[in-house]
Amino acid sequence: MFDVCIIGAGVVGAMCARALSAYKLNICVVERANDVCTGASRANSAIVHAGFDAKPGTLKARFNVAGSKMMEQVCRELGVKYVRNGSLVLGYGDEDKATLEELYERGVKNGVEGLAVLDREGVLALEPNVTEEVTCALWAPTGAIVSPFGLCDAGLGNAMDNGAQFIRNFEVERIESADGVYTLYAGDQKVEARFVVNAAGLYSDKIAAMVGDESFDVHPRRGEYMVLDKAYTPSLTSYTLFSTPTPKGKGILVTATTGGNVMLGPTAVDMTDKEDLDTTAEGTASIREQSARYIKGIPFGGVITSFTGLRAVGSTGDFIIHASAPGFITFGGIESPGLTSAPALGEYCVELLGNEGLVLEKKENWNPIRKPSGWYRKLDDDQKNEVIAKEPAYGNMVCRCEEVTEGEIVYAIRTNPGARDVDGVKRRTRSGMGRCQGGFCSSIVVEILSRELGIPYEQVTKSGGGSIINYGRTKGGKDNA
Ligand SMILES: Cc1cc2nc3c(=O)[nH]c(=O)nc-3n(C[C@H](O)[C@H](O)[C@H](O)COP(=O)(O)OP(=O)(O)OC[C@H]3O[C@@H](n4cnc5c(N)ncnc54)[C@H](O)[C@@H]3O)c2cc1C
Repeated sequence: MFDVCIIGAGVVGAMCARALSAYKLNICVVERANDVCTGASRANSAIVHAGFDAKPGTLKARFNVAGSKMMEQVCRELGVKYVRNGSLVLGYGDEDKATLEELYERGVKNGVEGLAVLDREGVLALEPNVTEEVTCALWAPTGAIVSPFGLCDAGLGNAMDNGAQFIRNFEVERIESADGVYTLYAGDQKVEARFVVNAAGLYSDKIAAMVGDESFDVHPRRGEYMVLDKAYTPSLTSYTLFSTPTPKGKGILVTATTGGNVMLGPTAVDMTDKEDLDTTAEGTASIREQSARYIKGIPFGGVITSFTGLRAVGSTGDFIIHASAPGFITFGGIESPGLTSAPALGEYCVELLGNEGLVLEKKENWNPIRKPSGWYRKLDDDQKNEVIAKEPAYGNMVCRCEEVTEGEIVYAIRTNPGARDVDGVKRRTRSGMGRCQGGFCSSIVVEILSRELGIPYEQVTKSGGGSIINYGRTKGGKDNA
């Protein structure tokens, strides 16, 4: 029996688990996928929003600003990549300037520090690559970028290091409640807990309905992206560039990423299918057309991949955070700025569970610190040679594009919450994220996963479930494999 069961291992579930792991509690996180960070937390813009966008008084505004203030410290503790690169909302004429001034006022009301409306000269002084059309911008120096994979992985990993359990491939299908205990069923498995946190993203409405809360719906809104090879983009921009929102929408962004690429997107298309992660020709065309208005000379020939994320859009327009039943807290409709807000939502989760009667006693030995996943990269050559002398796997280069060694991949598999498939290794190490997109390294990653997990090649998957990579051997016996 657990004290608290968290449904969903996205960034919200991970941050709730971490915050709760500071208390003397028996916690588990159940996740329908094979890994942490496979939902919206995997495919987003990775922006730590400054907080000028959300309407004052909303939950979005409250947790955006609080999360943005916490993020740098949380990332330092967890060893996650975070860069305070600053953001610019670009304007194209007097009408946009008036909107930017409204955003400025809204940001000031929300408590965002350092905002300024710049004229064209001011914009050019910061980012000389903007197009001739740009006339003004809202500058937000507290805007930042973060690794969403790192935040999820390290957040949940840190909770596990402090005693939390992670149960993969557990899709909650039914919930029963009796005598103050919730029983969560997934196929022939079950988990019992006295308190439950619903952090199931797009499916948070479905989970809430399992305990009788039908007060809201969540629908998917597709956002497509294109990623540029970092070899083409070192001087394109180091900022996050938005365009001024209009009644037609917020438009896309052009942003640097913590991985060193530049990313373009996302589109915004309302959908009904919560599983449709297709990219489309229309999406690509729209991103190309819009982004060319921001920055001069975007090398579209340098696009190395495209992907889609699905926003969990709630029916109220704000985050939906409440007790769906006694001792059952729901985080619904956590669309943007959910990534930014996540550390603050984790703290709020503790407060809400306390209000529901969870006894909260701090652990004396809680450790908020985690060794950075990229620790090896930060060493100088002499230090690397010392590591290689002890662990020769660090001398084997596996991913040539991103320069990831076998030692780093083994570390990602062995460190909580342990990569279990090729995409899990990719999110943790960047192996396969470079120009060749895994063309050279994927087969070696399969081999390492097979060896480390003690399973045959044929059972190693791309991303869990039925995503088998090798169906059988093509060249005779075992020795030729
Ligand atoms: C295109 C796009 C751009 C965005 N850009 C930004 C941005 O720049 N900055 C920002 O702050 N925010 C951004 N966001 C929002 C942010 O990504 C989300 O708010 C955040 O990731 C939500 O995290 P989550 O944990 O609630 O959901 P998710 O990451 O979706 O996690 C929910 C988890 O629940 C699991 N689950 C679902 N049903 C079940 C079940 N029945 N049983 C067990 N597990 C289940 C899922 O598999 C999933 O892993 C963006 C989102 C999108 C889609």
